[in-house]
Amino acid sequence: MPSIKKGNLQLMKEINTATILNLLHRGDKLSRAEISSITRLSATTVSALVEELITANMVEEVGERPMVGAGRRAIALQIKAHGGYVVGIFLSNSALICAVFNLHGDKTAEFKTKIAIGNDAMMEQIETALTSCLEDPKVKDCGSMKGIGIAAPGIIDERGETIIYSSYLKLSHLALKERLSSLYPNIPLQIINDSNAAAFAEQYNGIGEDKSHLLYFTINEGIGSGLILNKEIFSGYLGASGEIGHIPVDPEGLICSCGRRGCIETVITIPYILKRCQSLAEVNGKRSPESFEELLQRYNVHEEWLEPVFDKVLYVTTIMVASAVNFISPETIVFEGWMKDSSKFMNKLIDELVKFPFPVPFSPDRICSSSYPDDGALYGAATLMLQKIFKAASIA
Ligand SMILES: [Zn+2]
Repeated sequence: MPSIKKGNLQLMKEINTATILNLLHRGDKLSRAEISSITRLSATTVSALVEELITANMVEEVGERPMVGAGRRAIALQIKAHGGYVVGIFLSNSALICAVFNLHGDKTAEFKTKIAIGNDAMMEQIETALTSCLEDPKVKDCGSMKGIGIAAPGIIDERGETIIYSSYLKLSHLALKERLSSLYPNIPLQIINDSNAAAFAEQYNGIGEDKSHLLYFTINEGIGSGLILNKEIFSGYLGASGEIGHIPVDPEGLICSCGRRGCIETVITIPYILKRCQSLAEVNGKRSPESFEELLQRYNVHEEWLEPVFDKVLYVTTIMVASAVNFISPETIVFEGWMKDSSKFMNKLIDELVKFPFPVPFSPDRICSSSYPDDGALYGAATLMLQKIFKAASIA
């Protein structure tokens, strides 16, 4: 039947177009012949699709590729940086960052402000941030908006449209996609959990580039974790995976923010470590640390009396990581937060994991520090959106 045949041809064309865009998005500049050889699409098909992509402003010709053999000169092709842009928004515990990225993933404009608390204030702040960012003169040369990616703490619905719950930011069922679609109609928008977004950034462009299975921990005031399985974000049923910090490990421990006693969070996060060391200072007649930075500095220069507290932190962190390794065996485990500021602690952790009786030996290079200072989630939200655009690209 003609209609089915037409549908198949259109689908085939979309898949081939997406294949070419993906190749150019991830790789270096390529010629038409190189694209044809890598994708095994015919030269005629590649030429026709590339022409359409150039007309659609997504791809541009840039100089020449070195000639191989006695072939004709080969023109290099690349994704056109200013063929459009995506917006990344990161709602952290302290700040809202809204930034514009061109199609090469380069940041071209940024707006940052102190984070708002509660649904209404947050909504207003996001709208203001978007307006301010998009008014930046540099954005005017970037073509049209192709998507908005938002990294947020807490539980996100499985479709990535609503922040179901965020305790710190006091958000409840904030339907961001619905609210923003009236301002930016027909623009794809996706919300991602902040740790998952940061994990994606590490897998896509960072320390875990191109690793299939990656686990990301951010450990500061609380514990966040993000998981990449088969190069895709894994959020679990109801988007609620990654709450490893609330596994109870100490029946005699302190009450956690979740209401239970002795969760991992009550042993290895900043407020609890600081409080423990301050109490211990009093008992031992030592000068009480005023901040965690000071405390960590004193631990790093080997103040002996701090060792028992950090030994317990080390023990529980080892159990947490070893449990995850035994359960899902990620190739790379990335740490963001206070631990990466102490090479003494990280080296001890690596030693413990190498000694741990895993069924297969644990190599030390599986533990890494994050590549982004504290804005990996912003890059993750934006690059995930870029990837979606190139994967789903249709030039019809
Ligand atoms: Zn808890």
